Amino acid sequence: MLTPTQIAELKKILSKPKRIVITTHKNPDGDAMGSSLGLYHYLIQKGHAVTVVTPTPYPKFLYWLPGNNTVLVYPENKTKARRLAKEADIIFCLDFNTLERLDEFMPVIKNTSAIKVLIDHHLEPDTFPNYSLSKIKASSTCELVYDFISLLKDKALLNKDIAECLYTGIMTDTGSFKFSCTSPHTHLVAAHLMKLGINHTVIHNNILDSNSLDRLRLLGYSLSQKLKILPEFHTAYIALTKEELQQYHYKTGDTEGFVNYALSVDGIKVAGLFTEKDNMIKISLRSTGNFSVNDICRKYFKGGGHQNAAGGMSKLLLNDTLQQFESVLPEYAENIVKLG
Ligand code: 5GP
Ligand code: MN
Repeated sequence: MLTPTQIAELKKILSKPKRIVITTHKNPDGDAMGSSLGLYHYLIQKGHAVTVVTPTPYPKFLYWLPGNNTVLVYPENKTKARRLAKEADIIFCLDFNTLERLDEFMPVIKNTSAIKVLIDHHLEPDTFPNYSLSKIKASSTCELVYDFISLLKDKALLNKDIAECLYTGIMTDTGSFKFSCTSPHTHLVAAHLMKLGINHTVIHNNILDSNSLDRLRLLGYSLSQKLKILPEFHTAYIALTKEELQQYHYKTGDTEGFVNYALSVDGIKVAGLFTEKDNMIKISLRSTGNFSVNDICRKYFKGGGHQNAAGGMSKLLLNDTLQQFESVLPEYAENIVKLG
């Protein structure tokens, strides 16, 4: 958390125009992009030169976010992104807890002398930042960006652009205000954002109710053909090969939310989605109750996240990864039943 002294220091640092880069985790989601662009719209009002740089592309359903056309995607703008990072006075790191999450952009950020400010809600954050607003109980990084603006006594600068961005991340990370991370404070923040003139119905539609036909058919295929149930471990998972993804013309973000269908099966307490990428298997795990998938992702899959939603990767082949996953479940069986 930020101490009063640190808040005063940050307020002073930000009182004069600075060169600022905002970055977030690879494969950015609604919270990553919403928090980055929400913070962007706040900082530009204070006269700073600000650029959001993402380590990888992000889903098209987020392109409507205000300020989207200013975002640099690192692999497509390496020279410019490197220069901006090198020249930056301050680098804001949003919605991730370890620099590993920056993928190829990591060495660029690691080797700068800029002041690093972390705003994040993941478990066990690294110690790299100079300033850290890290709160694992927060629903989303967007909620924390709102708190950050509030701590700097700048609520008067909140506007519709900021509100649209922040509402997006709160909505996506809380599963439309239903996950246990949703608190009374989350609702108070959302209420304030709504008062700034956003159309929440349009935001929900843009993100949750717009599917390409390919995505919908991939979901249908995954549920009807690929959902595997392991009743003894109260676990369900979906695994998709590269060929299967290609068959449905997979685009970034198309499998977002699939894992929640697996978790919704009666009696299931742990769910997984395994997708085969070019040089690794991407893993998404979800759980119910107090059972922590963060532990499994940290211990076996070079990842982490939250208690009930975490991710990681494997360099093994898809089938070997699934075998590994199934082989670690007995270690957790008792807790899945007890805590899930
Ligand atoms: P998802 O499964 O939707 O990709 O991610 C679930 C949560 O786990 C998110 O909060 C995300 O930031 C985190 N997460 C996903 N993949 C990784 C990973 O490879 N490493 C770490 N540390 N966190 C991850
Ligand atoms: Mn988040």
